Amino acid sequence: MLFYYLLPGKTMKKLFLLIAIAAIVTSCSQTSELTKSENDLEVFLEKIEKDNLSEGPVVSSAYWIGSNFITHDSQNIVADYSKRYTLKSLENSRIASSFNDLKTSDSNRRKLELLKSSFVMPPPFDENLASELSSISTKLEAMYGSGEYCYEDGSCYDLEAFEQIIDNSRNPEDLLMAWNGWHEIGKPMKPMYMRMVEIGNQGSRDLGYSGLDDLWFSKYDMPADEFLEETDSVWEEVKPLYDALHCHVRSKLNDYYGDEIVSLDGPLPVHLMGNMWGQSWSNIYDLVYPEASQTKSVNVTQIIEDRNINEIEMVEYAEDFFLSIGFEPLPDTFWKRSLFVKPQDRSVVCHASAWNLDPSNNDLRIKMCIEKNEEDFITIHHELGHIFYYQAYNHLPTLFQGGANDGFHEAFGDLLTLSITPDYLNRIGFISEDEAELAKNDSIGLLMKQALEGVVVIPWALMLDKWRAGVFTGEIGKDELNQAWWNMRESYQGIAPPSERSEQYFDPGAKYHIPGNTPYTRYYLARIMQYQFHESLCNEMGFVGPLHECSIYGDKVAGEKIISTMAMGQSSPWQDAFEKLTGSRNISGKSVMNYYKPLKDWLDTQNNNRICGWE
Ligand SMILES: [Zn+2]
Repeated sequence: MLFYYLLPGKTMKKLFLLIAIAAIVTSCSQTSELTKSENDLEVFLEKIEKDNLSEGPVVSSAYWIGSNFITHDSQNIVADYSKRYTLKSLENSRIASSFNDLKTSDSNRRKLELLKSSFVMPPPFDENLASELSSISTKLEAMYGSGEYCYEDGSCYDLEAFEQIIDNSRNPEDLLMAWNGWHEIGKPMKPMYMRMVEIGNQGSRDLGYSGLDDLWFSKYDMPADEFLEETDSVWEEVKPLYDALHCHVRSKLNDYYGDEIVSLDGPLPVHLMGNMWGQSWSNIYDLVYPEASQTKSVNVTQIIEDRNINEIEMVEYAEDFFLSIGFEPLPDTFWKRSLFVKPQDRSVVCHASAWNLDPSNNDLRIKMCIEKNEEDFITIHHELGHIFYYQAYNHLPTLFQGGANDGFHEAFGDLLTLSITPDYLNRIGFISEDEAELAKNDSIGLLMKQALEGVVVIPWALMLDKWRAGVFTGEIGKDELNQAWWNMRESYQGIAPPSERSEQYFDPGAKYHIPGNTPYTRYYLARIMQYQFHESLCNEMGFVGPLHECSIYGDKVAGEKIISTMAMGQSSPWQDAFEKLTGSRNISGKSVMNYYKPLKDWLDTQNNNRICGWE
């Protein structure tokens, strides 16, 4: 089984691609349903393990070559492998579903469920529908990937060009033009998207699920509706912090843009937030926290430059973090086979990613065109979180090699980045003790910077799949897709479109994960869980002080907790792994609130005479 995790730069959009390597299809799929026995199941699962071990590494190599040497031929090979193995894993999930009625061990049942839920948009048994689905999915992806909008003067903009404006401009007219322009691309997707959902629902039913919503949300080791309710109640805990941030940001934007553009009691106009989807507000940090310019914060980029630290050394610093808490060193092959520096002589996929190519030989790699700056220094720590997770669970059967749930992998990556504190930078010799003290003095600046990304994304990451769940079940009807999208964005995020959006538009289509069919709840879970992990580890190691000053660097007690949790992979319900690490079986927003407490207090003072909320 090949896993790789991508982290495409600044926007923190993350894409998770799972290619389940399936058994070579044999006649056993034709066996009558009635005769399925425990023995058939053992044979089936053994075959999958064997095939994953023998074929997995070769497929991984094909993908590695496809991303590291982009040529006509490498893409040909990848397309071929991809097609064949998609077919195989489809066959496998179907065989798995033929065991739906068999009583078997928890462990075998778990393996079957993992096989069945490996598809996000499962093709139905009907071959015509299956090929229609495949053609729609490919088209939707391509429409997004090649999306552009051309104006009457003949000038055309793609996403990158529009984002250049949205991320950096402070001219409301330019921002409006860019936001509207990009959102034109959704229009033609609507009928195709709805047809895709219809066929995907059929495919899910063919596997024994009640529909796509059941397939997507029942894999969290609890009934789908309970899970969705729980995600909402966790949000309620975090909402007061978000509301306070929203109120402060609105007031600052009103100061800057005036009442005409930003009202003091309504939702925030999405085009002004410094991000195409309003999912991160880091680009307007200087507007909402002008105090920052008066303090001297740590400049890691400058330190890397001054000390002439090269790309490999940056990775060594990150490895050292993991070794300091008790992890085993990375194998030689990691250093020999990874890509750290952008090659001069060929084109590669530069998005940062972490690869588990050959689990039984511990062949782990990252692929990244490292730039010598702070952002990449942090990203390397994140990517190594994935790598050490792989290393910890690679002793398990291949079907159990995965995160405890799909939020865990990202949560561990992000957990480490919370420990990159001024004290940590002091301990690795980047800054002096005095400089660390100075940096700690502006804790509001530090927390504000983090919140504009880490807190702002929470309601967005939640609402995206809530909308999708509504569309999957039909609760959101065909003629209210865009209306429902904006109603939910307003209710969860307090964000509104800058112009009238009728049903003629399909604004969800302007976000990659909708046409690209990438589930989003994992980012919500990760953003919540990383703070729970952080807080419980800091408590465990006896840290006293504000949580944002706690670094688990060098702490073997914290390390042991992480390693033993990681070693469980996805072999048991995620709540077991979660309990091992945190002592609790429930996700909760309390740790987010504890972590940001100083910021929340500061915001409350700022908001004292302001009217907050947007209803
Ligand atoms: Zn990641």
